[in-house]
Amino acid sequence: MLLQDICQFLEAKFPLQLQESYDNAGLIYGHKTQEIDSALISLDVTEAIVDEAIAQQCKLIIAHHPIVFKGLKKLNGKSYVERVVERCIQNGIALYAIHTNLDNHDLGVNAKIAAKIGLENCRILRPMTGLLHKLEVYVPQSHFTEVDQAILQAGAGQIGAYKDCHFRTAGTGTFTPSEGANPHIGQIAMREEVEEFKLEYVVEAHLLAPVLKAMTSAHPYEEVAYHILQTHNRHQNRGAGMIGKLAEPMDTRAFLTKIKHTFGCGCIKHTAIVKDHIQTVALCGGAGSFLLPDAIGAKADIYISSDFKYHEFFDADQQLLIADIGHYESEQFTSELLAEQLTEKFPNFAVRLTKLNTNPVNYL
Ligand SMILES: [Zn+2]
Repeated sequence: MLLQDICQFLEAKFPLQLQESYDNAGLIYGHKTQEIDSALISLDVTEAIVDEAIAQQCKLIIAHHPIVFKGLKKLNGKSYVERVVERCIQNGIALYAIHTNLDNHDLGVNAKIAAKIGLENCRILRPMTGLLHKLEVYVPQSHFTEVDQAILQAGAGQIGAYKDCHFRTAGTGTFTPSEGANPHIGQIAMREEVEEFKLEYVVEAHLLAPVLKAMTSAHPYEEVAYHILQTHNRHQNRGAGMIGKLAEPMDTRAFLTKIKHTFGCGCIKHTAIVKDHIQTVALCGGAGSFLLPDAIGAKADIYISSDFKYHEFFDADQQLLIADIGHYESEQFTSELLAEQLTEKFPNFAVRLTKLNTNPVNYL
């Protein structure tokens, strides 16, 4: 199989457009036409992980955290980042990162954490805006079905759990073909009037290019009249963090003990216990203190995340319980999620989970 088959599958499922502006997800090293038969999955890429890939004869490492996060100006082995990249190049091992685009997806990192905790009725804690566009296109009524089907099949018209959505209005389109035009309807220098439909669709950002391509190839006109408008709508299935409920309220201390066990935490740093029981749980894998106001606003009993600074613990302000379970601990099941996705799609492709724990933090 080619490396591009893996990249295309992952990016169709978890589009790169979902990544945060500071991120560097995607193919970091490697050539898309490279042949591969296995991948090593890990949370981080360290020198030990590269050695594991060499020993397993894996020519691809898929990691959650991008090893190259900012510009590399020299490659002389002074930092572990430089040594990792150098060793991958020397051994022909491709590096792929699937980071905040996996965080910002309702089937991504946080869905896996929620499943491990046993949460129900989960939704995104802070839905993203700017992802949804509106496409308006004008089409002669005689060709409406072909154009509509092409646009829908390319992925437009999806709103939550509904597909094939559009709105249409009938009207009259007018135009005068100029010298050099090759009109489907009408003649040069004669003003034409055609009964048309205006069709309107919601389109996700990453689907705009294929939708426009399908639309223009199915449309009979030489020049297609259309508009793309960016909406301020929130995308309910894309964004940061997640919130859900336990089937039954649980004693707070018992719940914390369960979390400690499930995630194998050396310790949980938490704020004062202000409620006896926990039922509504907000969470965010990795560094998630930025979502604390959303967790409070959503009336969560507890917010599980990591990398809280001292002063940020005060912001719980008796309204909920902050539980900092550790960055690695919170995201460790991401490798399992990726392995499941790849194995389901490519049953003959060898997906190996790393046997190493890359957590740089130890607890005495
Ligand atoms: Zn992380």
